[in-house]
Amino acid sequence: MMGLYSGVPIMNLLDIHKELNTEEKCLTFLEHMRWPEGVKCVACESLRISRITAKGKLNKKTGKRSPDRKLYQCNDCRFQFTATTGTVYHDTHLPLTHWFLAIALITESKKGISANQLKRALGVNYRTAWYLAHRIRKAMVEANPPKLTGVVELDETYIGGKQKGRQNRLKNKEVVMGIRERGGDLRLIHIEDNSTNSLWAQIKQNVDPNVKQVMTDEWHAYPPALKGAKIPASKHSTIRHKDKIYVQGEVHTNTVESAFSLFKRGLTGAFHKVSLKHLQRYLNEFSFRFNNRKAADLFGMTVRRMALAGNLPYAKLIEENAFTPFVRK
Ligand SMILES: [Zn+2]
Repeated sequence: MMGLYSGVPIMNLLDIHKELNTEEKCLTFLEHMRWPEGVKCVACESLRISRITAKGKLNKKTGKRSPDRKLYQCNDCRFQFTATTGTVYHDTHLPLTHWFLAIALITESKKGISANQLKRALGVNYRTAWYLAHRIRKAMVEANPPKLTGVVELDETYIGGKQKGRQNRLKNKEVVMGIRERGGDLRLIHIEDNSTNSLWAQIKQNVDPNVKQVMTDEWHAYPPALKGAKIPASKHSTIRHKDKIYVQGEVHTNTVESAFSLFKRGLTGAFHKVSLKHLQRYLNEFSFRFNNRKAADLFGMTVRRMALAGNLPYAKLIEENAFTPFVRK
């Protein structure tokens, strides 16, 4: 039997349809994801908790009573709460069944899912679907990711516009930097341009100076950017793409390039037109799925991260530059 709490992870959409099809089941699941070591008071962190049932309120006009609610009550500070209190799940009017289905759809689709697809799958309006998707993406961002080490490939790719190549870059092209540790994690970062300064800032933040080797192509901004990030030239290998050389022994940037092409296929497939101010969010979603492709319980992990992540107001979400790692002039 499929056990939700016996350590067997929920792994596919069918399981979620079967096992998380009522609000009560979802609340129990959320409880286990949020407090794996036992329910903790959200006000005073006490572990001395009682489970109580609050009788539904009587509506005097209609004479109807709202359904009874299962609550936790803290034995120390008497605070009453539920598994959603203080989380992103709480202040929407959407049932948890919808939230969980949306999380399952987003974590399971390899290329991502558009707000329109989500809207149809959940039977909600477009704005709700769009907002849900963005909140879920926010939970997919790792707050303080470790620096990449070992053999690291660096490259950039260009999104939008029609012109190809670096030198003739048009104003309407967006630069995405890819950093990938071979056999490890991928980072995709929307950067302002392909200048030394822009590359340096990301190398400094994402690559461990004790890295074994860094692989790039011959773009002239890399040597000074690496130097600025305290990575010695002896650790820098260059592949000469201009001369149509793509692999020379261990020297290549193929693993980061394959991630770029997978991301671009997703862009044309699922999203059609990604709003540029949200590009970084799509990059985050993609990297999260990519980096956790072997994780057995991506769904449970995301449900948990959502419970621990802060809220994201709609006004903040639609701000220009709200998520772009740089401010466009
Ligand atoms: Zn308490």
